[in-house]
Amino acid sequence: MPELSKYVAVNSFGTAQLLEVIRDENLPVRKVVVASSQAVYSEGAAVCPTHRLVFPRARAVARLRAGDFGVRCPVCDAVATPAATPEEAPIGGETVYAITKADQERLVLTWGRQTGVPTVALRYSCTYGPRQSIFNPYTGVIAIFTTRLLNGRPPALYEDGEQTRDFCFVEDIARANLLAATGDRLDGQPVNIGGGRATTIREVAETLAAALGVPIAPVVTGEFRPGEMRALTSDIARARAIGYAPQTDLATGIARYLDWIRGQGAVRDYFAAAEPLLRAKRIVQPVAPPTPTPARGAG
Ligand SMILES: [Zn+2]
Repeated sequence: MPELSKYVAVNSFGTAQLLEVIRDENLPVRKVVVASSQAVYSEGAAVCPTHRLVFPRARAVARLRAGDFGVRCPVCDAVATPAATPEEAPIGGETVYAITKADQERLVLTWGRQTGVPTVALRYSCTYGPRQSIFNPYTGVIAIFTTRLLNGRPPALYEDGEQTRDFCFVEDIARANLLAATGDRLDGQPVNIGGGRATTIREVAETLAAALGVPIAPVVTGEFRPGEMRALTSDIARARAIGYAPQTDLATGIARYLDWIRGQGAVRDYFAAAEPLLRAKRIVQPVAPPTPTPARGAG
């Protein structure tokens, strides 16, 4: 997350280069399936009592700082209830990662329309499973919480831990790629791929601790991450319509992941080392505003 220019170089520039090479070298590419992300949305969809299904904007940092975590209707500002997010939701992206994933998706789909090469953008939800990097302290909440627990430390919850995400086992993601690559019914479209179920981050921490047999409860750190979504569950109707169905539930997927990580020997807690950096770069910020310090040496 701190490496803004690296994200742009790899995701945005790298994708543009790939498309250029395919075109300039006249490569016999029959389809491009791009690994997009649910991060392209600004916030999950929600239902307002008055305006029904709405697409809330990213939450204001001032509200997060004040401990007001709910999502609001973009029309009337009423607190709205999270709902599954369809592909029609506006895409924006509130982190450098999200912005470059939106770039990648638009580059590929637009290039496909203009060149006639079939393309599909799969918007993966939170993907996890065996061989997920255990060295990246910024992404992959299941990997981060597992390494914390294996080192005898509590998983850290931002906000109140009640944020929800849609988790999808890596084999289900792989099946979706095969469907997109071998059929043509998703061509030219962005398609949500996920488990289609909301799980709170606190529930993930507790499920992992129970599965590992480690009696450590998660802790609420009193911090938040600007740009983070409150509630994001994928509406997977578009993928289901062509035969996609998630097959691995979270408990089974976590068991598979833990079987793998147990074979990895000692696992270091990379998150602990990254924490001061996250705070210094204001990627993680305290919920309560700091107490104002009296002005010194005025005049
Ligand atoms: Zn409203």
